[in-house]
Amino acid sequence: KLDVQQVLNWLEKTNEKIQMNKEYLTSLDRAIGDGDHGINMSRGFQEVIDKTSTTTYTSVSDLFKDVAMTLLSKVGGASGPLYGTAFLKMSMIVKNREPIDKKTLEDALESALEGILQRGKANLNDKTLVDVWTPVVDLLKDKEVIKGSELEEVSKNAMESTKERMAKKGRAAYLKERSIGHLDPGSVSSYYLFASLAEVLS
Ligand code: ADP
Ligand code: MG
Ligand code: MG
Repeated sequence: KLDVQQVLNWLEKTNEKIQMNKEYLTSLDRAIGDGDHGINMSRGFQEVIDKTSTTTYTSVSDLFKDVAMTLLSKVGGASGPLYGTAFLKMSMIVKNREPIDKKTLEDALESALEGILQRGKANLNDKTLVDVWTPVVDLLKDKEVIKGSELEEVSKNAMESTKERMAKKGRAAYLKERSIGHLDPGSVSSYYLFASLAEVLS
């Protein structure tokens, strides 16, 4: 079960991976986008940590809401509104369902994905972060018990599978066939989010 402390831990771990891979994320986005994904995510998550580490939370719902508001207001580009929407949806779903059990986490991530789809209008296999979120939600729905190692593996394989796809949404879509052979930057940052969640769950 996830409580405030564990969710803070999840956010910390995500931020560490993003800060450590800031240049990498930016180089991925330089290949098929405008070269700012590492900058966007590192600024956004550092703001998230600054805000959440200096606030006292009595619920995960309030914590997710602050994460959402911070990402929506501090991160430009496509990724800020998408991640912001995801955390806002999670905030609504977990309200009065804490500490978060497996079913609540499943519902929260499913609702987050629905928000991402509504906002970005991408389909599965369009080479966006949807390609990572979808199999993660499917995994949670399929399994009685979530194993951290499985979550890590599924999100990693999904992230790697974006390499062979042609982009249909976002800036990379302008490149058409030339987007093939490159990882989708947003799928890599989503992999960091789920790999961090996997660490907290195991
Ligand atoms: P921008 O493209 O505006 O510079 P970022 O570089 O921060 O924003 O984020 C790019 C990432 O956002 C992409 O790698 C992709 O995963 C994701 N993305 C872009 N457009 C969409 C969309 N319509 N739906 C879902 N994800 C998207
Ligand atoms: Mg970009
Ligand atoms: Mg940009």
